[in-house]
Amino acid sequence: MAVYDPKSLKAEEFINDEEISETLEYAEKNKHNIALIDEILEKARPKKKGNGYVCTGLTHREASVLLACDLPEKVEEMYAVAEDIKLKYYGNRIVLFAPLYLSNYCINGCLYCPYHLKNKHIARRKLTQEEVAAEVIALQDMGHKRLAIEAGEDPVNNPIEYILDCINTIYSIKHKNGAIRRVNVNIAATTVENYRKLHDAGIGTYILFQETYHKQGYEQLHPTGPKHDYAYHTEAMDRAMEGGIDDVGLGVLFGLEMYKYEFAGLIMHAEHLEAVHGVGPHTISVPRVKPADDIDPGEFNGSISDEIFEKIAACIRLAVPYTGMIVSTRESEEVRTKMLRIGISQVSGASRTSVGGYTEKERPHDTEQFDVSDQRTLDEVVRWLMENGHIPSFCTACYREGRTGDRFMSLCKNGQILNCCHPNALMTLTEYLVDYASPETREVGYSLIEKELGKIPNQKVKDIATKNIEDIRNSNRRDFRF
Ligand code: SAM
Repeated sequence: MAVYDPKSLKAEEFINDEEISETLEYAEKNKHNIALIDEILEKARPKKKGNGYVCTGLTHREASVLLACDLPEKVEEMYAVAEDIKLKYYGNRIVLFAPLYLSNYCINGCLYCPYHLKNKHIARRKLTQEEVAAEVIALQDMGHKRLAIEAGEDPVNNPIEYILDCINTIYSIKHKNGAIRRVNVNIAATTVENYRKLHDAGIGTYILFQETYHKQGYEQLHPTGPKHDYAYHTEAMDRAMEGGIDDVGLGVLFGLEMYKYEFAGLIMHAEHLEAVHGVGPHTISVPRVKPADDIDPGEFNGSISDEIFEKIAACIRLAVPYTGMIVSTRESEEVRTKMLRIGISQVSGASRTSVGGYTEKERPHDTEQFDVSDQRTLDEVVRWLMENGHIPSFCTACYREGRTGDRFMSLCKNGQILNCCHPNALMTLTEYLVDYASPETREVGYSLIEKELGKIPNQKVKDIATKNIEDIRNSNRRDFRF
């Protein structure tokens, strides 16, 4: 039987079924142990150090106790600590991105995904490079600067060379004042050699959702195709890091399996990356399974309420304070509003989950991956964020300045977020307001920027940011960054 070892490179040792079972038992036994819960919450709180704050995070066992706890006043306290961590580390910035679907050809048999091989009533489509360019222009015209590319797994139709061509095309399009400055990649698990090619093509984060950490459940949900191999999939992030990719993004498809098991597995995966590579995941996504062509989420036995979903997000925030957290348009405006308060740092906006969807006037459904709950325009999303006290950010500076892996964390730990990320957010928001926003959004934005500039502690940084913002408003000069 496999023995738990976070430093092992074997999936069944670093995501160890026995360790998860014992963790869940321990969590259940202690879910009303107030002294222990208070101790864990105290450990999770940010502590002042020098000019900045440090957080130790929580182990998977500690975080699982909090997730199991259903005492309303303690759950409220979890939300409050999650919000505190979010504000101390990330400030009130929210980074925006959009997914770009390249191809829905797929040879896997995933039971939750409409792209599965046996689905014969979905139109199959793969973008040509001209079509990629047209989609990118449509995304730039909305104001997007950061994309996550998505494709099914199909070595004949979507080989790595195709993905690399698409990345080159995306980075090459400079339309009006627009540019895509960061391409994140969400494609199936692959080899070290292919990860190195993606790294050399200048990708941002490599994202791969685990779907479920429960091996038996995983094998049943992926009955056919290369994705059936649990170990190959689970060990993918180690290969990505071996291939030179510093920033990797984890995720579970919530609603398939038992959420407490998934949560423990997710935090153990983060601990494993930290133990082996010295750096945890750059982001964690929290997708929930949605209705889609040929897919009825009611068929899975793990569906979770909005309340549980929000508690999961807060507990992730407490356990891995330095990791960005992403919520997509799978979720409604209402759920996203709450999630933003308790730890989310990135959201997608105006997403279309169909291949070629951005160049269509009406939202197409024939090649769509799942129903999108939040169907607002990017302008509406930007305004909503500002009206809820957040700064929409189109910043991509960190990775372009080489601040990848654990180098971003030192900004947090040294209290430099307000002198670096904050002005970057304000400058990229100004670009958006000048080039793409509606007059109402522009007005809300300019007064927010005026107010937020006052928060920059370093006078020199404040002066430079103010001058750059003036320049953006009065000229075509763009892409300033700290
Ligand atoms: N094909 C790649 C893979 O297998 O990892 C990644 C691309 S896939 C387009 C991106 C993600 O969409 C999947 O990892 C899965 O978690 C999610 N997804 C699939 N079907 C979904 C559904 N019905 N509802 C919500 N998310 C879904």
